[in-house]
Amino acid sequence: MRRWPARMVLLGALAVADPAIAASCRYDVVPDAGQGFRDLTLDVAIRCDRAVAADAFAVGYGAEAFVTWRTDGVLGYRIALGALAAGRSGADFAQTARAVMAPVNAWLAAPVDPGLAEELRVTVAARPELLFLANFAAATGEYVLNRQDWGYGGYTVFTDRPPLAATAPGPAAFAKPGRDGPRAAAIRIVVLDDGFALADVDIVAWIERFAGDVARFWAGFPSDRLLIALAPGGRPGNPFGRVRGGGGATMTLRLAKSESLPFLLRRDWVLTHELIHLGAPFARSRQPWFMEGMATYLEPLIRVLGGAQPERALWAEWLRAMPTGADAIAAQGLEGRGHPYWTGAAFFLEAHMAYLDAGRPDGLAVCFRGMRRALGDAAARATVAQLIGACDNAVGLPTLAGLQRRYSTPRRIDLQAHWRELGIAARDGQVTFAPEGSARRALTFDNSLFSNSLP
Ligand SMILES: [Zn+2]
Repeated sequence: MRRWPARMVLLGALAVADPAIAASCRYDVVPDAGQGFRDLTLDVAIRCDRAVAADAFAVGYGAEAFVTWRTDGVLGYRIALGALAAGRSGADFAQTARAVMAPVNAWLAAPVDPGLAEELRVTVAARPELLFLANFAAATGEYVLNRQDWGYGGYTVFTDRPPLAATAPGPAAFAKPGRDGPRAAAIRIVVLDDGFALADVDIVAWIERFAGDVARFWAGFPSDRLLIALAPGGRPGNPFGRVRGGGGATMTLRLAKSESLPFLLRRDWVLTHELIHLGAPFARSRQPWFMEGMATYLEPLIRVLGGAQPERALWAEWLRAMPTGADAIAAQGLEGRGHPYWTGAAFFLEAHMAYLDAGRPDGLAVCFRGMRRALGDAAARATVAQLIGACDNAVGLPTLAGLQRRYSTPRRIDLQAHWRELGIAARDGQVTFAPEGSARRALTFDNSLFSNSLP
């Protein structure tokens, strides 16, 4: 919490006396959904430390067409957010009878010049029948978003449905925690509409089940606070998810209203994949192979370790899909235009097998726990070089750096050698196991990858 110094009286003046205090703009937001969420509007009044003209502000997502700036001399605007969200087909927006969801940068106009305001301080006049949900740091009723996080800013929700509360074991719930942190991570789940076949308790059970498994891999759920917005849509058996981390980790999940709990517990991989994205900063630049490879590789592994799927399913998937990544690396290297998910997964398979060769079956978990400890969760951003450095530093082996060097240019990964050592093969669509590989297969799922939380 920060005390406000006397310079508060200088609001609107050109010079800010204390350079140690970040220049900020303050936003007073009044939402109105009087005619229903399709017609949700936000009235936004802006006061900045420095004089900033209306034309120095911008919203993201091409939302300018929904913005009307005031002309009465007071800086501010009205945005038709319900209409904006209703017209978007992508997963970043939702508009239902009970809610509107949008990334913050679609409606909060920020100065185009980041130097004009380093902090965006937001107050939303929410009422019991119109809640505002976001995951930004909040103090004394204000949400604080750093200008540099704005472009990556998290999902926000205006709704009349109170969120569900879930938890996952935090670092302090483990005997050997992956980092400092609370005993329980707080997860708020906002269901954006009525009519889901899943009861609220089912939704909480589903998310807590897999958040718990991800917490065990990281020895503490990666994010201390998380907001999940559950939107209706898509076909049954085909959920979709996305994480946006700027200002605090948020996730949207799009789910058919008829989706069932047994499907989600036994078959769905999307939730686990998205939860894994929380475990590391977002990689800057265009290098999706690292983040997507991490999620693609760890998701089936964590679901096997947690008992959500049998080992056989993981081997079948890897035998089928790893060649996609290996072929992409052989053709263009890690940074090529091949499938980033399986390019990255093949990279992490190489790393995992290298850890086993080095007598470090715990290597993969130590790597990601160290990365999280050194660099933060999905709310942070880092370069791939920083991610790799933090991992190698934690494990004490230059494994990832060596692999990145080796595969930065086109080069074959010898998958057949891995499958021989693991004693697995595909015959007529079925996985067969050779007894010689059983020790290495067991090491792949070594207990050290998965911590038990304290009772
Ligand atoms: Zn992903």
